[in-house]
Amino acid sequence: MANVELTNVRKVYGSSVEAVKGINIAVDDGALCVLVGPSGCGKSTLLRMIAGLESITDGTVKIDNKVVNELGPAERDIAMVFQNYALYPHMKVYDNMAYGLRNRGMPKDQIDKRVKDAAQILELTQLLERRPKELSGGQRQRVAMGRAIVRSPKVFLFDEPLSNLDAKLRGQMRVEIKNLQRQLGVTSVYVTHDQLEAMTLADILVVMNAGSVEQIGAPLDIYEKPASTFVASFIGAPPMNLVPVTADHSGLVLKDGTRIGAEGLVLPADGAFIGFRPEDLEVSAGSDTHVGGLVLDLKVLGVEPVGAESYVYGIAGGERVVVRVPGRSASQTDDHLRVIIPKDKLHLFGTDGKRIPPA
Ligand code: ADP
Repeated sequence: MANVELTNVRKVYGSSVEAVKGINIAVDDGALCVLVGPSGCGKSTLLRMIAGLESITDGTVKIDNKVVNELGPAERDIAMVFQNYALYPHMKVYDNMAYGLRNRGMPKDQIDKRVKDAAQILELTQLLERRPKELSGGQRQRVAMGRAIVRSPKVFLFDEPLSNLDAKLRGQMRVEIKNLQRQLGVTSVYVTHDQLEAMTLADILVVMNAGSVEQIGAPLDIYEKPASTFVASFIGAPPMNLVPVTADHSGLVLKDGTRIGAEGLVLPADGAFIGFRPEDLEVSAGSDTHVGGLVLDLKVLGVEPVGAESYVYGIAGGERVVVRVPGRSASQTDDHLRVIIPKDKLHLFGTDGKRIPPA
């Protein structure tokens, strides 16, 4: 077991593409760290630098308190699990798992014990004689995990391991990976573009954007206090609503000129974004003024019933907004709704996109 520490890590491809712009991350021993962000934000590059598959332009990567910048992948004591499992098609499950250990010249009985132990953990014992084409997608993914486990590395690195699986299987495997990682207690770094996967797996979540870290923290802390409009709209589905506002003497002014009461909210001179999660809104039928919240008029564009709840899409103050309402009760026929954002559920961001802490 080991900790992983990245200090001012940079990567420049060629002479000008700065794919990773000086990143600092500390992953404690045994923790599962998830790097999440849109395509092209630099997460694979960062993972590959930890793995030793990509040179490091600047900064240091430490594994188990030792700088590994100059070590090759084989010397870093890491094991990687990829999206395309890269199993050898002509080899049985057993041999796929044993292959790396044989290459290292490990004694046969020791290999046998490691493969069988891993197979038991992964419930692959009955499948050791099969070839990859005789396995389901989830089973193949487990063999790929098995191949990583038998090496008993200091660190697991996962590069979008579930993105080839269908949604249902992805959900199952997510739980399996989380349980397995806990059980084995191996420090892990996991890359995904899927915010749900990131939220559910991570002990420590790193949200990346354009080669930089936007926010690091526990998943729910990030959900509750996103540091920027980028994080607010990336974490959570449907994402947080963000409505641009300015203030004048009589209250807040929305994009389309609508005025609403400011409810004691103090805005920067150049305006701000108010943010609110779709589930945090109260839908009000009456016309009474609500104390302690902002009241918006929502012009309904459509309702999506998804079973246990419904998403109501609409326009408020000239901006698109989505509201989650419980059950199937949302009416298709109401073309206007009054929605209230309780003040304690309100997020405020500057025009630079950065979170403004409550006054
Ligand atoms: P992600 O994994 O978040 O999708 P990547 O780490 O793959 O992002 O890529 C980050 C940036 O670096 C992108 O702009 C990508 O085009 C660029 N990039 C990745 N690999 C190379 C390479 N080998 N040569 C030049 N540019 C690269």
